[in-house]
Amino acid sequence: MRPSIHCELVNGPFGDPAVYADIMFERRALLFDLGDIRELPPRKLLRVTHVFVSHTHMDHFSGFDHLLRLMLGREKTIALYGPAGFIDKVGHKLQAYTWNVIQNYAGNLVFDVYEVHDNGTLRNARFRSLSVFQPELQPDLHIKDDELTSCGAFKIRCAVLDHGIPCLGFALEEAAHVNVWKTKLDQLGLAVGPWLRDLKHAVLTGAPMNTPIRALKRSADGVMPVTLPFRDLCGLVQITAGQKIAYIVDVRYHPSNAERIQHLAFGADLLFIESPFLEADSAHAARKNHLTALQAGTLAAHAQVKQFLPFHFSPRYTDRGEALLEEAMRAFSGALKNAAIADG
Ligand SMILES: [Zn+2]
Repeated sequence: MRPSIHCELVNGPFGDPAVYADIMFERRALLFDLGDIRELPPRKLLRVTHVFVSHTHMDHFSGFDHLLRLMLGREKTIALYGPAGFIDKVGHKLQAYTWNVIQNYAGNLVFDVYEVHDNGTLRNARFRSLSVFQPELQPDLHIKDDELTSCGAFKIRCAVLDHGIPCLGFALEEAAHVNVWKTKLDQLGLAVGPWLRDLKHAVLTGAPMNTPIRALKRSADGVMPVTLPFRDLCGLVQITAGQKIAYIVDVRYHPSNAERIQHLAFGADLLFIESPFLEADSAHAARKNHLTALQAGTLAAHAQVKQFLPFHFSPRYTDRGEALLEEAMRAFSGALKNAAIADG
């Protein structure tokens, strides 16, 4: 099955956190955290429509300036999500610069900024380059069932976690995964092409059966456009469960956090989870409000994720990244075994 989300840990396990999630068939990308993002080429960054920031410690947020520098002057709207206080933090970053000529720029760059409060309130404000990035407060929204937002065929859920300060965990969920049967396409004499995106969209949004779809038909002269009703084409696709990606960084290990993380990440195909310290240094990890690799592996196992990627390694283990990885993986398989024994 060809995945529709391709995730990339931008700076490897020791670098500043940032995960680039490329949603290939929607020609857009999402970013989880805004650490150092200079490794991402501009063509990739320009696809970004949504940015989810766990918290504004510098290693998770300093990349905002790079994003701003690249987007400035373009006609573009970017949604930014973060924890309580996030609107002010973005506002301060924007007001750090001098904008006396910004209204001469061709494109209006817009940041729609949302901050998540533990009671489910979603405060939000708009910053437009045309208005010299002065905050324009919008009416409060409310999060229902942890669902922060949706974009295209995806929804993003979040949990407010404890890192000494509020820190957000995120899960990106695809509504369903749509695959096209190439053999059935051939049998109908249809050609692959961008129209398959419309077909997939019709499937995912439950379009009426008489919805016209502009397809491509093979003929002796090459490929010709043809309009067919959705009912004639829906058999070309197979729907399977969508992908789920979860992202957890900078959290203390305690029952309330563990419960929220397991609920958010449950059954994920891939979990990115911080593993900064070895269990031997657990007192230090707790003092700094972080997980150990063993705790990360245990959480991943209890959340029954299919795959997990430990990252955000502390520089104190620069030559010992393998040890963190091994400890996390051992905890993952060990906890799974213990769970199986307990169930049995
Ligand atoms: Zn932090």
